[in-house]
Amino acid sequence: MSILSHLHQLFNEETCQTYLHQLRWKDRPLQCPHCESQDIGPWGKYHRRPGLKRHRCKNRKCGRTFNDLTLTTLSHSKLSLRHWILATFLLCLCCSSRRIARELGVHGRTSYRWCWWLRNAAISYEAHRQLEGTVEADEIYHTAGNKGQVSRDARESASGAKKGGKKRLGRLPRQRGKKRAPGRGHYNKDRPAIIVWVSRTGGTVVQAVKDFTQSTVQKAADLAVKKGSCIYTDSARSYQALKGYVHDFVNHTKKEYVRGTVHENRAECLFSLLKPFLRVFRGISKHNLPGYLDFFQFLRNFRQKNAFEQAELILHAALDPSIAKRAKKGKFVTCFDHFGLLHTAIN
Ligand SMILES: [Zn+2]
Repeated sequence: MSILSHLHQLFNEETCQTYLHQLRWKDRPLQCPHCESQDIGPWGKYHRRPGLKRHRCKNRKCGRTFNDLTLTTLSHSKLSLRHWILATFLLCLCCSSRRIARELGVHGRTSYRWCWWLRNAAISYEAHRQLEGTVEADEIYHTAGNKGQVSRDARESASGAKKGGKKRLGRLPRQRGKKRAPGRGHYNKDRPAIIVWVSRTGGTVVQAVKDFTQSTVQKAADLAVKKGSCIYTDSARSYQALKGYVHDFVNHTKKEYVRGTVHENRAECLFSLLKPFLRVFRGISKHNLPGYLDFFQFLRNFRQKNAFEQAELILHAALDPSIAKRAKKGKFVTCFDHFGLLHTAIN
């Protein structure tokens, strides 16, 4: 082992503390997080947390103490802020939770939990995104099974699966003979569809859906694109039935890829970025697919910023008590799951 095995050991804890203090209170006055009173005073320090200042609320009804991390996602963490800042930075560089665990020297489950909290905080920025103007759309099918989920039969029979025994897949291993169920992908065939909407003015919306029927596409369009916008797609029939939009398409079967301004190359291009993003996880669960895609949407929509600026946005959301509470419960991913892919709460 080298003298310095982890990068975060180079960071100064007090500098990190000052940085988070500025980030938390930069657009709101220093106030008590319990009762929002601004009548507060200093109340000592923490021995184990250099740089973290303690305050006390002078409101007679409240009188509680607090610090910069109270009621945020980072509160009650035994690990230092240096770990948190580096974890958020690595998450924005599209690292998997296992990779982050290795780089930080923490347990894999810790980093998995943190990753989902931070992803939820990031998704809070995408809550009300709707595209307008000219929007290109396309779909792709991605193999996603029950990774990490104990199958229902196994849970009912309780045959060792509870204690981490062998899990029953309920099917042959997917790679044997590379056999895939014929026809279009479907959620029940472990191959849900992903629809992307790319606005030519810059915004992106990525949705995980169970199937690719007309009603699903109509619902997806209503959520992602404002009524009356112009949508360019390929010649799939589900798009042709869209109502409430100006629609035009190129016919790929006739080798037509561009006709004037009508094309969907931006949407196709997005897949070449989405595929390597999802590959990092080495197979994902279909239940978690919406969460991963929404985080990818966040990264795309803030792509003008570098990874640390994106991390700063996520940390700023994670330090907001109203967001932190929901992020820890995985509520933001649940809000985005309009098509019922999520079965269980995350964590
Ligand atoms: Zn108070």
